[in-house]
Amino acid sequence: MGLLYKSTRSGRTASASEAILKGLSEDGGLFVPETIPALDKAPEELGKMSYQEVAYEVMKLFLTDFTEEELKSCIAGAYDEKFDTEVIAPLVEAEGVWYLELFHGKTIAFKDMALSILPYLMITAAKKNHVDREIVILTATSGDTGKAAMAGFADVPGTKIIVFYPKNGVSPIQEKQMLTQKGDNVLVVGIHGNFDDAQTGVKKLFSDRGLEKEMLDAGYQFSSANSINIGRLVPQIVYYVYAYSRLLTEGRIGDAEKINVVVPTGNFGNILAAYYAKQMGLPIAKLICASNENKVLFDFFSTGEYDKNREFVLTSSPSMDILISSNLERLIYHISGDDPVKTAQLMEALARDGHYEITEGMRQKLSDFYGGYAEEQETFDKIRSLYEDTGYVIDTHTAVAAAVYDRYREETDDRTPTVIASTASPFKFARSVMTAIDPGYGDADWDDFSLVDELSRIANVKVPAAVEEIRTAPILHHTECGKDEMEAVVKKFLGI
Ligand SMILES: *Cc1c(COP(=O)(O)O)cnc(C)c1O
Repeated sequence: MGLLYKSTRSGRTASASEAILKGLSEDGGLFVPETIPALDKAPEELGKMSYQEVAYEVMKLFLTDFTEEELKSCIAGAYDEKFDTEVIAPLVEAEGVWYLELFHGKTIAFKDMALSILPYLMITAAKKNHVDREIVILTATSGDTGKAAMAGFADVPGTKIIVFYPKNGVSPIQEKQMLTQKGDNVLVVGIHGNFDDAQTGVKKLFSDRGLEKEMLDAGYQFSSANSINIGRLVPQIVYYVYAYSRLLTEGRIGDAEKINVVVPTGNFGNILAAYYAKQMGLPIAKLICASNENKVLFDFFSTGEYDKNREFVLTSSPSMDILISSNLERLIYHISGDDPVKTAQLMEALARDGHYEITEGMRQKLSDFYGGYAEEQETFDKIRSLYEDTGYVIDTHTAVAAAVYDRYREETDDRTPTVIASTASPFKFARSVMTAIDPGYGDADWDDFSLVDELSRIANVKVPAAVEEIRTAPILHHTECGKDEMEAVVKKFLGI
């Protein structure tokens, strides 16, 4: 029997390929696996495999309606020379912890890990389900998803992709990366609002039944490349399994020794993948959820109350500037004992009041998690001190995680070997990173690209191709809109 996916807000089920095609369930819920499959290979064995082979061993357990041939071909298409290292996700030791570098793909952020494979999974899923309509990928981005999704879907036959980003809420390099994206099937739109406005607007378009009908009549159907799509989540489980297995076979951790995982968190997708890896049997002890000053998740783990009614702070880690962490809904569903009625109630409260509180019983099931946050200054201090101690330069998001981990170590004295998810290349946030190292780089005579070159010099790391490419690339996109105009923009692009 294949593994089925259930909506978090009803009993509705879907196969893996149907869930990938839909993105979101009709009832507004997210698809979750009915059960979490157990790893059927020992980490000792997985540790001898390539990234691609581990990807197959993990993904076959979740995407059970894909044939071996289909899945292997998706994996081979995704994890190839687009990545600038053969190991795909290298582990780098600094100050006694391992940084799992997830930024060696096309757009130098961890979103590439899943978005390199999602287009292949989606095209395969469409074929399996005899879908002949064009698939329109609709995506809200806090900066990194948009570029990674466009890079994956650009000129993929049978698809179009529309990306909404907060006009004043992304880094200059992130924005330039998006606005220079080529591809006839691509539209990028800067909205006058923040990321939550973009995400809420996209969700609204997804659940608009009138619009859906118009789309169907015109030969289109929506899908999502956001981390609400299970096709994003499953490929993210792979690198935790890979990292653990590598540490084990390379003798860096002992037999059956557990690791802690620290994840700089925004929409809760990356850390949820680590949670699923743990449920599969991977020896993970603590899941350390690191937030920036938008610390809604820290408050949630400390009090059992989720409250998005607060000021939205623009930080130097923009991909984590989020007050509604969509994937938390999946965790809520699991800790409620897979109760769609309870989950739907809480999510309705969130939509209505911006606030909900979980029960004491649910709270007890959160003991695997530790929530922490880092303020801007702590984040900058961490970038500087790590560079001064070791010469290793990390980006602002990874630095939030590293700062939270330092505080966790101090508080708990927990000596468990630890992996920090390193989610972006420092080159993507060169200005923030360089001024953290030395405020002198904040002077007006340093432009973004001279900072990139200077970073390359002091860190002794080559400028990544993704940054080289946009240095002189022309701006191809100029669309902006108010947060109430998203539907009109979509219709105009599709000609309906
Ligand atoms: C998206 C992103 C995050 C947050 O990941 P989630 O899965 O949304 O929690 C962290 N860091 C970077 C660089 C990102 O692009």
